[in-house]
Amino acid sequence: MSGVDFRLRPFIARPPRAPWLVAALAGAAAPLPFSGEAGVDVCIIGGGFSGLWTALRLREQDAALSIAVLEADRCGTGASGRNSGAAGHWWTRLPLLLKCLGREGALAVIAASEAAVEDIHGFVAQHGIACEARFERSVWAATAPGRPGAWGPMFRAAEAAGVTPPQRPVPAEELRALYGDAPYFAGVMEERATRLDPAALARGLRRVALAQGIAVHEGSAVTRLASADGHVLVETRGGRIRAQQVVLAANAWMAQLAPFRDEVMVLSSDMVATDAIPQVLAARGLAGRPGGTNSRMMLNYGGVTPAGQVYLGRGAGVLGFGARIGVGMHHAPRQLRELAADFRHLYPELHDQALPHGWGGPIDRSTTGMPQFGTLAADPRIHYAIGYTGHGVGATALCGRVLASAVLGKRDRWHEIGALLGRVRNGRYPPEPLRYLAASVVQAAVRRKEIAERDGRKPSRLDVKLAPWALATLPARR
Ligand SMILES: Cc1cc2nc3c(=O)[nH]c(=O)nc-3n(C[C@H](O)[C@H](O)[C@H](O)COP(=O)(O)OP(=O)(O)OC[C@H]3O[C@@H](n4cnc5c(N)ncnc54)[C@H](O)[C@@H]3O)c2cc1C
Repeated sequence: MSGVDFRLRPFIARPPRAPWLVAALAGAAAPLPFSGEAGVDVCIIGGGFSGLWTALRLREQDAALSIAVLEADRCGTGASGRNSGAAGHWWTRLPLLLKCLGREGALAVIAASEAAVEDIHGFVAQHGIACEARFERSVWAATAPGRPGAWGPMFRAAEAAGVTPPQRPVPAEELRALYGDAPYFAGVMEERATRLDPAALARGLRRVALAQGIAVHEGSAVTRLASADGHVLVETRGGRIRAQQVVLAANAWMAQLAPFRDEVMVLSSDMVATDAIPQVLAARGLAGRPGGTNSRMMLNYGGVTPAGQVYLGRGAGVLGFGARIGVGMHHAPRQLRELAADFRHLYPELHDQALPHGWGGPIDRSTTGMPQFGTLAADPRIHYAIGYTGHGVGATALCGRVLASAVLGKRDRWHEIGALLGRVRNGRYPPEPLRYLAASVVQAAVRRKEIAERDGRKPSRLDVKLAPWALATLPARR
């Protein structure tokens, strides 16, 4: 074991916050940062879904374990409380999974991703977490004329493997009935997709963790993580913890660390939302309109909350040079302006409605779009979860199972799933500054191309040629 000595960048929390996060934090007591010295069995860095699910699954299996969660800001203020609350599975990744794992492995991973979503429903029901976890219709649509839907490869792979995905094609007349004159040209629908209030879930998980004797320290940014004899040292500004094992669950905030740098890049996902407008939705025939995503590379995702708040997001926004999480990751006026134009396009019936809420958050994009739940070769007492690529609401629940088994040294089903995910690798990103420069050029081309398509203009030939490079990576190191 060679050991590690990592310095984490100073953590900076920035408003604006998602409206559901503001609501979930209302009345929360001021954080009590960790100070002094302590020894624990397990120290978890990051109090988002990954960290909290792991803590809770550990507690479930070992009541005597001492567990501390160190969260730089408040639990849920990272991506977990800012997202759009769509808890998905990995059916869309079927072609990649078949290629990397073969039929049996691919189907095992997909089944585990579905079980994770069921797990969320079970846990919130058992612990009375009021996070609006619900099943809704969700449509994956082509919203530009002449562009094929992105679901073709998934259906072809499913047919070859003899399996049936949960989505079904939506006939043109049904699409018209659902979306009227809005620009929906083709689509597939999942009848029972899971949506929830992510901030309420994060705060609920924290509440259960505290009730179960897990020490949760908010306002406690970790500054250093170092291997030592007989323990791993975790330092904050005010204190030091000696841990037998550590779970790194700081998402995009840990992407700059050497083990992850090659395979994860950081960019923002951005969102806008109306206030709650249930009467407007009812009056304009939008009350039953399903949410979902479209087939763009900078994909839009959105829906309506049970209270009638309409929200829309767009992935792959601000790029983080060297995985830095700057101000633009939290709030980028240009991203929000473009997103507002997307909103007016996709919801022409709401052209006169204000969008008073706009925010962003960092996502950790892996080269495959799949996360890794693993253990560091340099120090097998340190486990990690990274690479959710903007799809972590369901996957973090699976992370909790896999990393709890890793910490407890169990060779169970979850260990197998972690090992299978470890085999889903296909390349690496170039080093900086090349990564940032190349990504900026290609992303600008994708942006121009997709805005042109949205506005019914022909994209330039150069942009059409450059756009597919968005998915390019260098060969993996052997
Ligand atoms: C705008 C947006 C919309 C999204 N929409 C969806 C969606 O609809 N569906 C979906 O599946 N996924 C979505 N995602 C992605 C999803 O939110 C994430 O994949 C998921 O929340 C990751 O959870 P996490 O616990 O790993 O990370 P986080 O929730 O980011 O938690 C990491 C935590 O680590 C803390 N931290 C950072 N540095 C330190 C440090 N030095 N010391 C201590 N703590 C530290 C942070 O404060 C943070 O709370 C979206 C993301 C964004 C930004």
